[in-house]
Amino acid sequence: MKRIYLDNAATTPIAPEVLETMMPYLTEQFGNPSSPGQEGRMARLAVENARKSIAKGLNTQPSQLIFTSCGTEANNLAIRGLIKAKKITRVISTRIEHSSVYNTLCDLTWQGQIEFVQLSVDTEGRPDLKELETYLADGHGHTMVSLMHANNEIGTMINLWEVGSICAKYKAFFHSDTVQTMGHYPMDLSEIPVDLMTMSAHKFHGPKGVGMLWMRKDLGLQVIQTGGSHENGMRAGTENVAGIVGMAKAFEMAMQGYEKDSHHIQKISTVLQDGMEKLGAIRHGSKDQNRLYTVLSMGFPDTERSKHLLLELDIAGISVSAGSACNSGKTSKVMAAIHVEQMVNIRFSFSRYNQLPQIHRVLDIIQYQLIGESITAENSIV
Ligand code: PLP
Repeated sequence: MKRIYLDNAATTPIAPEVLETMMPYLTEQFGNPSSPGQEGRMARLAVENARKSIAKGLNTQPSQLIFTSCGTEANNLAIRGLIKAKKITRVISTRIEHSSVYNTLCDLTWQGQIEFVQLSVDTEGRPDLKELETYLADGHGHTMVSLMHANNEIGTMINLWEVGSICAKYKAFFHSDTVQTMGHYPMDLSEIPVDLMTMSAHKFHGPKGVGMLWMRKDLGLQVIQTGGSHENGMRAGTENVAGIVGMAKAFEMAMQGYEKDSHHIQKISTVLQDGMEKLGAIRHGSKDQNRLYTVLSMGFPDTERSKHLLLELDIAGISVSAGSACNSGKTSKVMAAIHVEQMVNIRFSFSRYNQLPQIHRVLDIIQYQLIGESITAENSIV
């Protein structure tokens, strides 16, 4: 039986159309975009067309995009580059950020470069914005705020306008890790009051190993990696031409299909949530609509049967995750921060390729594992 993949927040399968668009750049059109010859010019054209296409989709200027090797690199460039450029001495963030942000801030703290202020988060994973305002109002200056748009484990989202307006009021810089949301929501970057945002192609059916940093015009970011003058001197290293072309195609498809796909995903996610709630599970994260529709984090009461749920699902051919794929095997700092104790937590994350019959099968397996009964037509929980 074909496996059912519900771990799309970790990575998504590449769309066949994306692979097709990339193939020429992995084969005959192999030029280096910095080379002056015809091969190089063709590669340069492909990179710049991809840049224009993504910029158009985000209503921004192509010059505001810097291609990177992944979301992690984009977050590092945003944080380290801004700290260097603006002599930032304090960064306000939370302990539930992705490790590419959190560990970067810890590293900078250990090096004595910054003070890392960690805002409180409530039991749904929302940062305390009153506390943010209190810190910003203290007149410290040279402050950067880094808050993720959507949490990758529980899906809780911040309002970029709300946080951006608070930052603007106190002249603090605002970076948001948007790796889980860019490609999942339409965004008009000419309007959102943010200085720096990040993207990773493999979260929306693009290839792995390619990402992007968007920066506000005239931000004056500094480089963190020395080498050639690629990416307008902002990011040294030969561009991943096929990857960039693939990211642009994946982004275009994601935006074109947004209405239909988000509706479909919301529908199947609700069916899965309702079914699991009937089996005693609870949903983690935001209870209102401020949550990422692709992520469903559920907690099951810790019992002898539920303990093995993740493994049993895997054996049954269903891929899910206990939390963030980057930290598998470790106790989740997100669950600790939102005070989830003594629960078996599973993150289900969806893509446009998931279908309702798959959800019914997942519920069947979970019910069987938890109470030893399969779902029949009469007592179906779905
Ligand atoms: N930020 C968030 C919120 C993520 O979920 C991830 C990946 O899981 C990253 C950053 C890192 O992206 P990449 O895997 O492209 O380095």
